[in-house]
Amino acid sequence: MRVKQDMPDISLATVYNCLDTFVQCGLVRQVVHERGATRYCANTEEHHHFYCDECHGTYDIPAAPSVSRFVFQVPAGFVVRHFEIVFQGLCPKCFAKRSESAEYP
Ligand SMILES: [Zn+2]
Ligand SMILES: [Zn+2]
Repeated sequence: MRVKQDMPDISLATVYNCLDTFVQCGLVRQVVHERGATRYCANTEEHHHFYCDECHGTYDIPAAPSVSRFVFQVPAGFVVRHFEIVFQGLCPKCFAKRSESAEYP
């Protein structure tokens, strides 16, 4: 939407092609969630994602340095290049809304 303000004729395909290139260059990370649209995250630090069930927002969760891939039993022969933990639940805003309406999760 922001690019369209300066370049009204740009196609969505061009935008996605650019995003794909950014992903290949390691500038952004593609974030795929089974129930949501593909998103792109510009946080290049090692981190995980939290998905809110209510507002469908995606939030970055910093990676805990103590949680290494070695806590998972990765079978021999697999080379781990990246792993991500997916958190799912309510963001603080949506949790507050629920509490107000006395409808606890
Ligand atoms: Zn939310
Ligand atoms: Zn992220």
